[in-house]
Order: sequence, then structure tokens, then C-alpha cells
Amino acid sequence: MEMEYKPSQIEQKWQTYWNENNTNEPQGEDCGLEKKYILSMFPYPSGRIHMGHVRNYCLGDAFARHFRKNGFNVLHPIGWDSFGMPAENAAIKHKSHPKKWTYENIDYMRKELEGLGLSFSKTREFATSDELYTRWEQEFIIKMYEEGLLYQKSSTVNWCEDCHTVLANEQVEDGCCWRCDNEVQQKEMPGYYVAITKYSQTLLDDLKDLEGKWPSQVLTMQENWIGRSSGLEFEFNLSDNSKAKLNNNFEKYEVFTTRPDTVYGVTYTALAPEHEIVTYLIENNLLSVDKITAIKDMKKVSERDRATEDKKGLDLEITVVHPLTGKEIPVWVANFVLASYGGGAVMAVPAHDQRDFEFASKYKLDIKIVIDTKMGILKLEEAFTEPGILVDSDTFTDMKNVDAKDAIIEYFEKNNLGKRKINYKLRDWGVSRQRYWGAPIPFVHCKDCGIVPEKLENLPIALPEDVEITGEGNPLDAHPTWKHCSCPKCNKDAIRETDTLDTFVQSSWYFLRYATNPEKWEKEGISKSDSDYWMDVDQYVGGIEHAILHLLYARFFTKALNQLGYTNSKEPFKNLLTQGMVLKDGAKMSKSKGNVVDPDAIVSKYGADTARLFMMFAAPPTKELEWNDSAVEGSYRFIRKFYENSSKCEGSNASLIERLVHSDLNSDEKEARKKVYEALQKSVDVMNKTFAFNTLISSSMEALNALNKQSNPTVWLEGYYILSNILEPIIPHTCWEISNSLFAMSNFEKTIEIKDEVFIQSSITLAITINGKKRGEIEVSCDATKEEILELAKSTEVAKKWIDGKEMIKEIVVPNKLVNLVVKG
Ligand SMILES: [Zn+2]
Ligand SMILES: [Zn+2]
Repeated sequence: MEMEYKPSQIEQKWQTYWNENNTNEPQGEDCGLEKKYILSMFPYPSGRIHMGHVRNYCLGDAFARHFRKNGFNVLHPIGWDSFGMPAENAAIKHKSHPKKWTYENIDYMRKELEGLGLSFSKTREFATSDELYTRWEQEFIIKMYEEGLLYQKSSTVNWCEDCHTVLANEQVEDGCCWRCDNEVQQKEMPGYYVAITKYSQTLLDDLKDLEGKWPSQVLTMQENWIGRSSGLEFEFNLSDNSKAKLNNNFEKYEVFTTRPDTVYGVTYTALAPEHEIVTYLIENNLLSVDKITAIKDMKKVSERDRATEDKKGLDLEITVVHPLTGKEIPVWVANFVLASYGGGAVMAVPAHDQRDFEFASKYKLDIKIVIDTKMGILKLEEAFTEPGILVDSDTFTDMKNVDAKDAIIEYFEKNNLGKRKINYKLRDWGVSRQRYWGAPIPFVHCKDCGIVPEKLENLPIALPEDVEITGEGNPLDAHPTWKHCSCPKCNKDAIRETDTLDTFVQSSWYFLRYATNPEKWEKEGISKSDSDYWMDVDQYVGGIEHAILHLLYARFFTKALNQLGYTNSKEPFKNLLTQGMVLKDGAKMSKSKGNVVDPDAIVSKYGADTARLFMMFAAPPTKELEWNDSAVEGSYRFIRKFYENSSKCEGSNASLIERLVHSDLNSDEKEARKKVYEALQKSVDVMNKTFAFNTLISSSMEALNALNKQSNPTVWLEGYYILSNILEPIIPHTCWEISNSLFAMSNFEKTIEIKDEVFIQSSITLAITINGKKRGEIEVSCDATKEEILELAKSTEVAKKWIDGKEMIKEIVVPNKLVNLVVKG
């Protein structure tokens, strides 16, 4: 057998074989086999794959190959998250079309992934920018609209007047447009919103089912993002003077608090700069010019940036009446009050809330203690937020504050002053983008009928291809004919919606599309019966940066599509593995840092198996992985040794493996078998429980070393029978080559059983001590008698040296430990 390791030959051979034999295609949904759905988060086709992709897909591939080899019907699909802004930016830069750029990238990256030997299904591949995918997405959007899960409303957005477009928070840098550096304005604009908040409580409750299956960190992040709090909602009435000042346009406003026990300590209230009362004061010049300018500046800062800014505020020169004490309380506008939370108004209790304390201290506002701090007010250097006894709180004085929470809510409810309320931080999801390269929102604006969904038979509403992308304005809006259409309801002239959907919509249901047999793709968006078989995803693999947005949206979409009758699935991802980043020189690989290692270069130098082995060996999957050239070299050497040593099996054949009698083997042979079976045991643990692929690889390395210490060809052959099986998920090309030449693939056809006999210890090592001093060791069979042990001990060279010619006084055997010989003279 020619045994020189030539990765490019082997890899080319097997990739061709897999392609031609559809090895990686799942069987039909009715095949009667148990299924496994293994999914790595699909890539954005940016141009080339990077090491982060390689890690992500090698992990997913290892699961897919393991379960496929163990008799499961495995769905392991890939596709392309192909709408989005980079395609438009590239189009502007290179004067090309986003579609051309995108699909060329897909073709290139598909080849790169194939070159890694990843076992993806080819028949289920799609790009989210395919018109057929858009067609079904538009149907879901229409059904969601009809069901009240999607609606249009006007709200404040970041707007660049130069570019004529809305900007995401991430695209606002220091209050300016990332593209043209123009000052960003906050503008009221209509947009479409997905009513994810209707599922706030369900999304929270169902996290419990994911405990132990998703990283706890991700569960905590989602819980905090949903942000459930329970408390009291009540109203502040404006004082008569203030009502008059506002020309009786306003009576009162609502606030929400999670600390009703401190309500007697309210010394001011604060409004968001966007609050309607503030807007009224500005528009009617009821404040000084300086104040108006300052408030307008506040509004220019995005909500996200306000959170990290210094606390700022201004006295609005109006007052409200405290609902319990009747006292007049000043009203301020403050940058820390968010218009999108709790109605844009808050009560402030500086004595017991740190943010309110800092604000009150800065602006010399009153501070009133209502929970006993056991020190005077003058000594209060920060808010007192500990539990305690109420003081200065009317009939609630002397009550424990935890009890007072409920008592005060009950008092408000009984006197019709307010009510108990559950609040969530989660906001509805704005999905409108003024972009070309996205899925058109399938609605029509009719003068008579308002917003009308497009007829289902007219879907997809496809993008026009004859557009010029300049980066200014929305190309769909600027297109001469595209937006002009007739109303689906009354047939009169109407205008098509020119906004496109946020790309996160596409990634919110792609796993359900994969779970639909491609034969049905023309007729159905999601096949309910197919999704009954394939869903939920058994193992999802991806980056932790998706902990909130993608993973929360996908959970919501699954629940919404369930409500609409498209699937019975309720939670998309049964198990989640979040892989760590790939670093080089301690930093994330990036072009700007110049520390990028190109996967193609590694594959052409060492082969795909080396790249795969290194990725899986260098760190446990959830930890960061530091790139290391010499470890790559080491991975290559291991595979070469593994491949070339397969010649040691010559002289044996597969039928002899079953006839190995463990007790007949010498200790090196026994040790080699033990190490091989330890690696097999490790493989079971890793695939089902620990996911610590690095430990599986080190066990396999130990096994190969132990095999090398003996020369029984049948022990070698058995070793290869097992090792080429358990390493196949990691270095598939090499393992298929070995399995084919030694076993005609028979070792991939069934689960290999673990033989317990190899773990039974057959001999033990005992210390030899002479007159209490350790002089050497002997190895004895576990079932040796005391007499046999003593005879063996006394016959060793070390023992002879100390006992020859001396009188033996005592001979002691301490079982499993030592032999002690006591001599005289
Ligand atoms: Zn701009
Ligand atoms: Zn109409």
C-alpha cells in the first residue's frame, strides 16, 4: 500500500464521491428513521469565508457526521442570509449591482465551503434574496398584519437629510451620519412594527424549557432584554396654575414605578424630551430660548447614547399634585427618561434611587427620606436602596417596605388612583428600512382604502433590477414606474410601499424553510407535516453576539407562525452551542488589524482536514481560540502519522478483530486497546454531553501513541476500526480513505460497541520495601496468591541485592500496595 499522506488527492477524491453519491442529503420525511436536525447559523455572503465561519461550520459538521454515521436521518443544511446593506455599499463603491455582487459572492463562498469537506445538503440550499423566498415571507407578513401581529405607526427615528434615509442606531456616530457626516435629526416617520411585545410573557416563560440546553448567559441576556417588572401605574394631575399655563390642553400624565413603597418620597417628576407636554411648551414658546435650544439638543442624541451620557435636565416651570399628600411637585425634562418606556414620564425619589439622587444633587432639588436610613439626611451621600422601615409615610409609617409595596398598591386601587401593572422593557420591533436590497413590504397605499395588503396571487412583489444605487434616498422610491400600481381592493391608482424589511426578518424563519422538503418549495412556504418531522433544531451552533436580536426574533417568529397555523413548533432551537471567537495575537481577526489568516491558504498548504482538526483541537468550542501556526503544523503531523501508520495493520484482517482474546495479549497490547476504547467512550460523551471535541482529539492522540508501542497487527487494525470512525466527524477525508481501504466502509455502518473487558485491570504494581525502605517495584497479576507475590518479589534483582546472605525475619504482603521484607545482618 502506497502510504504517503497527500491531502489534496484524498480530499478531492472524497469530495467528488460525496457530491456524486448525494451522501449528505437527508432521506425523505417518511423514511421511518429517527431524525437529527443540525444547524449552524447561515452566513452573510460578504465575499470570502473567514476563520469564524470555519469554526462555526466545523462544529456543526462534526455533529451532523456523527449522527449520520450512527443511523440517524440527518438534516444539515446551508443557505445565505443575502439581503442587507453591504451589498448596496459594494454597489456604490464598485458601480455594480447588489444582486450581481451577492450571487457572485455566494458562488465563490460555496466552493470554499465545499473545499472544507462540510457535509451540507445541496438540495435545500437557498439565498434569502431569492424571489421564491421573498414570496413566502411576504405572505407571512400579510398574515401577520391581518392577525394584528404587524402594524404601522409613526415614531421617532434617526434621519439624515443629506442621504434622505433613516439610520439605524449603529449608523449614528457622535450624532452624525456614518456616511456623510451630516448632523442626524430625530424625525417622526411612519414605519411597520412587529408586535413582538404580545409575546413578552411567553418568550420569558419558555426560557425555562431551555435551561441546561442553552448557555445560561444567553438565557439571562434574553430575560433582561424582555425586562419584566411588576409595580404600580398611577397618574399625576397637573396643578391648576399649570393647566392654565398649558391652555387646558393637558390634565395629567401616567407614570409607572417598581417602588410604590417610596411614593411618599417623590420630590419631582421628569419627562422625556419627546413627551407631548414638552413638545407643546416648545411649540408655544412657553420656555426661554436657551431652554428650548437645550431640549432640542437633547433630542438629537439617540436613546442608546443618552443612557451613557451625563444626566441633564431643565425645570419646565410647571407642577403636578402628589396623589397622596396633595403637595405640589416640580416637573423637569430629563435626558434619562426614555419616550419609549412607561409613557415617557417618571416619578423621582432621590433618597432611594441613585439616578434620581444624582440628578437632585446636581440641580439642588428636595430629597425626602421615607425609608429609615438610621442616619440623618445630611449624612446621605448616596441613595439608600436597602430594605427597611417606612418613615414619614402617613398611615404606612413603621411598615416594612416589602410589605408596604403591596399595601400601597392596594390603597391606590381601592381609591381609584392607580393600578397594579406588569411592565416589560421589550419594545415592538421596527422592520421598515428605506433600502433597496431587501424584501419589499407587500402593502399598497390607496387614497380611499388606506393600507391594503397585496393579493397573495400577485406575490412575490419583486425588486426592480434597473436601479442605480447612489446611497442617496431610497432607489425604490426614486424608480420611475415601480411604485405605481392599482389598489388590490378598489382597483384605483395606488402607490406601492417602498420600504423593505429588516434583514433580521429573513433569518427569523429560514430554519423552517430548510425543514420543508424542496419538492414543495413552489407550493408552500413551510410544510407543516415536514416541520412536524424535522423541528425543532436538535443542535444550533453560532456566535454569542446573536444572543438577543436573532435568537429572540427567531423564537418570536416561530411562535407567531405557529399561531398562524404554519407550524406546530413553539421553540425553534432545542440545544444551542455558542462558539468562541477566533483570535490572533490576542485580538479578533480583522482586515484593519492585519491579523487575518485566510482559510483557503491553510487548506491549500495543509489540506482541509488539518484546518478542521486544528479548529476543533485548539480550544473547547465555547472558549476563544488563539491562532497558532505551530499547532496547525502539529495537527498536520498527527494526521500524517495517523494516515501513514495504517500500514501497520498489514498482516491482519477485519475478521480477526472479533477473535482477539484480551487475556492472551501482552501488557503493551492491552494498554493500546484500553486507550483506543477510552477514546471511543470519550466520543460518546463529547457528542451527547460535553461537546469538548478537543478532549476527544487528545484521547485519540494518546491511543495512537499507545498503538505505536506494540506491534500486533490485529490490535492495530482494531485501533483503526475505531479511530477512523470516531475521528470521521473531525477529519472526514482521511477517515473515509482509511475506512475504505481497510474495512470497505464497514466500520461506518453501525455504532461500535464499547468492550468492557479492556478496562478490567489485569495487573497491579506493588512497591518492594526492605526493612521499611522502598527499593523497587514489581508488577503482578491481579489474581496472584500471596506466595506467588513473595516468590516473585524475592527473585527480583533489587531484592536480591539487599537480602542475599542475610537472615529473613519477616515477609509481609500489604494487598494492592507493597511487599515488605525484613532482614537481619
Ligand atoms: Zn448622511
Ligand atoms: Zn383602494
